Amino acid sequence: MKKSIKSTVAYFVKKFDTRNPFEIADRLKIEYIIGSLGNYSGCYLYLKKHRCIFLNSELSEHDMLFVMAHELGHAILHRTENCYFIRNKTFLSTERIEQEANTFAAELLIPDSLILENPGYTKSQLARLAGYNEMIMNFKKI
Ligand SMILES: [Zn+2]
Repeated sequence: MKKSIKSTVAYFVKKFDTRNPFEIADRLKIEYIIGSLGNYSGCYLYLKKHRCIFLNSELSEHDMLFVMAHELGHAILHRTENCYFIRNKTFLSTERIEQEANTFAAELLIPDSLILENPGYTKSQLARLAGYNEMIMNFKKI
């Protein structure tokens, strides 16, 4: 049976002892470059057998962490498939690989403990507490 995305994320968090997507990428030798990307928030490309992530330098700190976590999800789950992250569209995409990358990002950036330690918080309150767009909670399972 295919491993769930939640258990894949848990595996890397435990192995590398971090939830920071940049640190996980470093450990996995996945390259990332921050620069000018116009309308794209980020993209993931498989170039000459190298996994490369590009991030838009104009993103806020939390948006950049989310886009990085999403692209890291592609690099790990969909190694050879390219992705272009478009602001306000990728959260709503019905494509399987986009939903899987969003799930990967939500599981990485929203630890179960945040939910368990704040009983009674709504999804949007939890997202705000963590600093992310509330759409992230649509992909988080506990
Ligand atoms: Zn994507």
